[in-house]
Amino acid sequence: MKRVYNFSAGPSCLPLEVLQKAADEMVSYGESGMSVMEMSHRSSYFIDILHEAKSLYKELMNVPDNYEILFLQGGASTQFSMIPLNLFSKTNKADFIITGSWAKKAYQESARYGEAKVIASSEDKTFSYIPKVASKDFTPDADFFHICVNNTIYGTRFKPDSLPETGNVPLVGDMSSNILSEVYDVSKFGLIYAGAQKNMGPAGVTAVIIRKDLLDYAKDFTPTMLKYKTHADNDSSYNTPPCYGIYICKLVYEWVKANGGVAEMEAINKEKAQKLYDFIDNSAFYKGTVVPEDRSLMNVPFITGSDELDALFVKESKKAGMENLKGHRSVGGMRASIYNAMPMAGIDTLIDFMQKFEKENA
Ligand code: PMP
Repeated sequence: MKRVYNFSAGPSCLPLEVLQKAADEMVSYGESGMSVMEMSHRSSYFIDILHEAKSLYKELMNVPDNYEILFLQGGASTQFSMIPLNLFSKTNKADFIITGSWAKKAYQESARYGEAKVIASSEDKTFSYIPKVASKDFTPDADFFHICVNNTIYGTRFKPDSLPETGNVPLVGDMSSNILSEVYDVSKFGLIYAGAQKNMGPAGVTAVIIRKDLLDYAKDFTPTMLKYKTHADNDSSYNTPPCYGIYICKLVYEWVKANGGVAEMEAINKEKAQKLYDFIDNSAFYKGTVVPEDRSLMNVPFITGSDELDALFVKESKKAGMENLKGHRSVGGMRASIYNAMPMAGIDTLIDFMQKFEKENA
């Protein structure tokens, strides 16, 4: 069996143990005599999977009891619409920090339904930093305040201790690319959403953690499927949920738990990221594109300074068993996405290759 080191930004590598367990259970799940893909979402087998997934996610994220967990479809992009449709409640105002393309898309979608205000942006420097903000600039009566906690394309993040202090205004966080990677205090947020396909499972599931008091403000014209309350009232099974995806998420949660939970993921992720950043910082050949204090633990963009060498790097790294190191088209260069499932051996292999490439091309 050939497995490569897959540095894709998403969908991304999953733990091998999870894939193997899914393979073992593919044709017949437990005593059911059928695949999870084939079973009714109303069957006791699937209901148990769903509840187990919810309870593990709650445990791993240390979600307080006044929050609801929803497994939805439509990707994180559908949340860009659901958030304003459901959370614009009193003033129809919301604040945004624009730290990349996804944050901007969230902002643009909210601007269709209410008064969306940009508090700060780092677009002036290709989103290579997290802008400093002061609470006095925030809209005091906003219905919500949106940030993209980890910026997949540009490789920046709001650290757990540097979230904007929004007071009574619910903070909404897009954690698609850093969910389960580092300990964040859920109680600081009104809503956290994440497309599963990076750190949590396959594409097709979007996990939402929402404070219960925010569930019931959807505008009248909101489609039933886009109301959080519809899904909260129906245990994420108003219609057929993404059953197989939820099952894989459950296996990933079990894997995270068995490996020490989010705190241990954080410790390992910090070690992995530090090793790679240290190597880049100590090299005269490679350059990180993000200011050190705002660097992501998950997405590490770097360049050589030459488009030709960058292209050669991507081509040669493929031959050395590493896939998807090409940077996003808006940044260029390379990007190593090193989610929970990327082992330290993958980082070591990448650094060895970078050393060799530098020797040959510097
Ligand atoms: N937000 C972030 C931070 C992302 O990285 C992505 C996808 N790469 C999205 C939103 C959009 O997610 P989806 O494709 O699930 O709609």
